[in-house]
Amino acid sequence: RLMLGTIVEITCQDRAAIRSAFEEIKKIEAIANNFNPDSEISRLNAAGRIQASPDLFNMVRESLKYYRLSEGAFDITVGPLAGIWKEKIREAQNKSRGLTLPTESQIRKALSLVGSDKISLDESTFSIVFTQSGMSIDLGGYAKGYAVDKAILRLKESGVRSALVNAGGNVYCLGKKGSRKWRIGVRHPRKPAEIVFYLDLENQGAATSGDYEQFFILDKKRYSHIINPKTGYPVDNNISSVTIIAPDAATSDGLSTTVFVLGKEKGLELAGKMDGVEVKIIEN
Ligand code: ADP
Ligand code: MG
Repeated sequence: RLMLGTIVEITCQDRAAIRSAFEEIKKIEAIANNFNPDSEISRLNAAGRIQASPDLFNMVRESLKYYRLSEGAFDITVGPLAGIWKEKIREAQNKSRGLTLPTESQIRKALSLVGSDKISLDESTFSIVFTQSGMSIDLGGYAKGYAVDKAILRLKESGVRSALVNAGGNVYCLGKKGSRKWRIGVRHPRKPAEIVFYLDLENQGAATSGDYEQFFILDKKRYSHIINPKTGYPVDNNISSVTIIAPDAATSDGLSTTVFVLGKEKGLELAGKMDGVEVKIIEN
């Protein structure tokens, strides 16, 4: 199915369980889709505050954990910047000439709205409040992994013991595929037809963040959809893809974006402190 702005694929032998797992993913999409003005996240972004659903609250709370762990490299308040750069990527897909970068003042203005320390959470009421007006959040670096875990939970509740859920490269492998582990191929960031390595997974999540699906090139320079919240510009650190294996899909999603922004040295240092986490980085 087309969901969460990508292709979501569920492999398992129980059709009814698959249908119910897709329902779960649809629920997360209805919460986290920035392009739907009626989604919960859009309502939060418009009003600057909300009495959140448990799932939105969880996603924001977990994202703040990565914000702190990464000293600000992972920051869902990149919303205004992500908006500017995603618009440019769309523009680049529609025209081959005359493309310009966002102006410095545009970037500066958006940057002044960034900083997850300006999100205030109340655990007792599930309220989320932005302490500066004009801020907006973007859960694009976390929601797909979170949705995969919710789908897996639903599959387990239906008695399923072997399944693969894949939301645009954010996967979880439940149990084994027959007598072997699930085998996941990761694409070469510069040669789309080539697999660079395989992951053999069992009860593990994995995700890849890359600069090769959403990007544009201007004056021989590549601009991707992963933003450095300190500069306001797409990350530019010689990395073309980061793959994370983790105990769950949400962790692998959040961490893949985080390590991509942090860069090799700091990224490996952070991931090395986390249990059950493996990192594979491909440099340019
Ligand atoms: P994909 O969206 O291709 O799965 P990622 O998981 O790496 O890739 O997430 C990238 C998305 O995360 C961007 O499209 C944007 O919505 C959001 N994002 C961009 N930069 C950051 C950042 N520094 N911190 C948190 N989220 C980010
Ligand atoms: Mg991610």
